[in-house]
Amino acid sequence: MTALIAGGGVAGMTMALTCHQIGVPAVVLESVRSLAPLGVGINLQPNAIRELIDLGLEEDLNAIGIEATEWALVGRNGNDVWSEPRGRLAGYRWPQYSVHRGELQMLLYRTVLDRMGPDAMRTGHRVTGYRTSPDGVTALVDTRDGGSTEVSGSVLLAGDGLHSAVRSQMYPDQPEPQWGGAVLWRGASYGPPIRSGASFTLVGSLDQRFIHYPISAPDPETGLQLQNWIAELSFDPSKGWRQSDWNRQVDTDAFLPAFEDWQFDWLDIPSLVRGAPAVWEFPMVDRDPVERWVDGRVCLLGDAAHVMYPVGSNGASQAIIDARVMGAMFLDHGVNSNALEAFESALIEPMSSLVLRNRGNGPVGILGVVDERCGGIFDDINDVIPRAEIEAFMANYKAAAGFAIDQLNSAPSTIAPGAQVVN
Ligand SMILES: Cc1cc2nc3c(=O)[nH]c(=O)nc-3n(C[C@H](O)[C@H](O)[C@H](O)COP(=O)(O)OP(=O)(O)OC[C@H]3O[C@@H](n4cnc5c(N)ncnc54)[C@H](O)[C@@H]3O)c2cc1C
Repeated sequence: MTALIAGGGVAGMTMALTCHQIGVPAVVLESVRSLAPLGVGINLQPNAIRELIDLGLEEDLNAIGIEATEWALVGRNGNDVWSEPRGRLAGYRWPQYSVHRGELQMLLYRTVLDRMGPDAMRTGHRVTGYRTSPDGVTALVDTRDGGSTEVSGSVLLAGDGLHSAVRSQMYPDQPEPQWGGAVLWRGASYGPPIRSGASFTLVGSLDQRFIHYPISAPDPETGLQLQNWIAELSFDPSKGWRQSDWNRQVDTDAFLPAFEDWQFDWLDIPSLVRGAPAVWEFPMVDRDPVERWVDGRVCLLGDAAHVMYPVGSNGASQAIIDARVMGAMFLDHGVNSNALEAFESALIEPMSSLVLRNRGNGPVGILGVVDERCGGIFDDINDVIPRAEIEAFMANYKAAAGFAIDQLNSAPSTIAPGAQVVN
């Protein structure tokens, strides 16, 4: 009953660890020859942290990430629009973490190797497609030496990301990723702590913003923290943009002039940007939701299933949740197409709605209301928008994204301790 997993990203690796936890043999087929800690910061919401803790990773997370305590929206002139506590401070039973994406991926990778052995992870194996039959599935794979091979199992779980080859086989006519006009420039620089020292801060408006959060504790000697930042500008989407690739390195000329006067007494954006050793450009893309994630014994998960604009910080969190829900379905149905169908039924509707909701700016959409009412410039936000209106907006988003406090705190474990699949 081997589960084949395409892609060793956050979805694929969490899937492998979940399979191991519940006694399902699994093999990860990852296209790159050797995994490197790529990307910059990501946020892991309490629902995802709960799952990683259930996988026994609490101590390791503490070593690579920082517990986030505040989420704040700040107007273009540096005044607060909204601030709320996050994680345990907000009443969740589990924290929210800000981590370096690459460090998280490497942690999951090391844990897969430690727990499952080197044979569980085949790097330099790019899945190009599949054949599915009533009894099993075969992944078609190009190997690092220029050859090709086939790997057979009970199911194929496709965590191969934004440009998923498996999804392309399911949907040969799907359009290119949809670009709504925003471009992100991402980097990480050392700087002094701002606000709580563990705050996610978004400054600006809908068409020009700067996102900032620390991804390390302050260095005991220098007091400086590694700070993740994203500068975002919006353009006319009809003009098109270059191919979407998370790893396109650029210099700062394309965007820094637009942020040159964004200097506040608590945050100096130009100097933070100049302090980054490297900057990556990523046009903010997603894909239109599809009607099915399952084709026989093959199922999409993570970004391959529902890549979304990263406005609600839930891409990596949802990849983790997907893997855990799939594990729960294996426990209920066995490692077969019934489990895949049950997974799809549980998640496809809410995730498709979330993809579309994030096109509307997710929780940040409230800045659009502020722009409409005062052009984004205000002294006291209460003169612009009543607090109760913002509160209702935020509560609505959290419920849709699956991390409403009461709902999460009272939910039973996705996978009960000790549960094993019996075949
Ligand atoms: C290099 C990189 C950098 C990123 N940086 C950021 C960031 O800074 N901030 C942010 O918010 N999000 C970033 N992301 C996206 C973020 O990791 C995902 O949105 C989220 O974690 C969901 O993860 P996933 O496992 O579904 O997809 P991904 O994280 O994209 O992982 C997909 C994995 O599949 C592998 N793969 C792709 N095609 C194939 C194939 N045909 N066969 C086998 N393996 C394949 C890839 O090499 C990758 O390891 C990045 C993704 C990548 C790949």
